[in-house]
Amino acid sequence: MKNENCIFCKIAAGEIPSATIYEDDDFRVILDIEPASKGHALILPKEHYANLYELPEELASKVLIVAKKVITSMTEIVGCDGYNVLQNNGEVAGQTVFHFHMHLIPRYKDDDVTIGWKPGKLTDVLKEQILSKMK
Ligand code: AMP
Ligand code: ZN
Repeated sequence: MKNENCIFCKIAAGEIPSATIYEDDDFRVILDIEPASKGHALILPKEHYANLYELPEELASKVLIVAKKVITSMTEIVGCDGYNVLQNNGEVAGQTVFHFHMHLIPRYKDDDVTIGWKPGKLTDVLKEQILSKMK
């Protein structure tokens, strides 16, 4: 399943050139064009799924294996000190390209990458609200 208007479908299919650092039957991993840090990469499934909700379980389970492979070799190449692995779903969550992708962002001591939130408070009411519905 491809989406005619999706740039990541075209990149994943090799129709648009990209800096590919890993490829298998299901995924292409490319360097991000506007990297947060040296080595920032994106895992793209070759089929079009807008987000994690749509991604089939089989691919969802494979994507973290690809992430592990790539961050392990990239760490050796760029000599980073840590990694953020993150994935945005929906505009409100910062997603700008609506073809599932996972960000692999190398972190360096004293870099200026900002990924964060203001810690809130897990109140008893909130905890109960969620736990009672999840059980
Ligand atoms: P998100 O905000 O999670 O949807 O992330 C989209 C990411 O795709 C951003 O980090 C962009 O820099 C990156 N991006 C957009 N277009 C391209 C492209 N043609 N090649 C590589 N990365 C891209
Ligand atoms: Zn797509």
